[in-house]
Amino acid sequence: MRQFVIGGNWKLQINTLAETKSVLTAIRDAVDQLSVDMLDIFIALPYTSLSTGQDLLHDSPIALAAQNVHYKESGPFTGEISIESLKELGVQYVLVGHSERRLIFGEQNTALNKKVHKVLEHGLIPVFCIGETASQRAAGNHESVLAQQLTEGLAGITEPQLESIILAYEPVWAINNPLLNPDGEIKAATAEEAGATQAYIRSWFAKTYSQEVADHLRIQYGGSMKPANCEDLLSLPDIDGGLIGSASLSAELFLPIIRTAISLQTQ
Ligand code: PEP
Repeated sequence: MRQFVIGGNWKLQINTLAETKSVLTAIRDAVDQLSVDMLDIFIALPYTSLSTGQDLLHDSPIALAAQNVHYKESGPFTGEISIESLKELGVQYVLVGHSERRLIFGEQNTALNKKVHKVLEHGLIPVFCIGETASQRAAGNHESVLAQQLTEGLAGITEPQLESIILAYEPVWAINNPLLNPDGEIKAATAEEAGATQAYIRSWFAKTYSQEVADHLRIQYGGSMKPANCEDLLSLPDIDGGLIGSASLSAELFLPIIRTAISLQTQ
């Protein structure tokens, strides 16, 4: 069985150091009470909180993640962050291609591909995010959209490198973000929708690389995962964890998801 990876993504939602300390300490102390050897956990903090996160998590099984990185090591790139800076802060995972980066900030597959390569080159773990919009799904194009994101975003990535990559399937229409879904009701994918799409993604890896790669790759589901629906989603054979936005912003919501993952993993 593939080991679950449960990731939190705080986005720009917890922004003061005081609140960061309070929420992260509560999550860390609750996780310390659990047996999490069979689980990988990360939390992606805003850049300015990473140093505080490094202090608070240095003895914790919770790994530090960044929400983005630039694909160049250094240079005249106002407002960007380098992989060396992230490494110095103890970051182990880097989100690449979150739908908010793609759709609000216009990040394209070509640049995302360079980011995946850069993160791997430095020994960190890219969490490569893909997902289709509501209109793409309504038009029945979701599989081709995902295939294109995978083909272009992972261009030049070898089979051995895929051992160090995590994939996150996040249907845009399920992400709890009204900016991404101005017209739609936002709700998690049903088990049927998520199960079929995650299976499609795994089959893409079997076809493009090999069955062995597909069998080993961990594919998270993201999009309105919360305590009430996490068991249904995490029980699906092709879901190997969750990327969790809103429900990672408090110990009260994040811990039940971690506990559910532990209990499913140890069944
Ligand atoms: C996300 O943006 O990665 C996400 C899944 O958000 P939420 O859980 O709030 O839908």
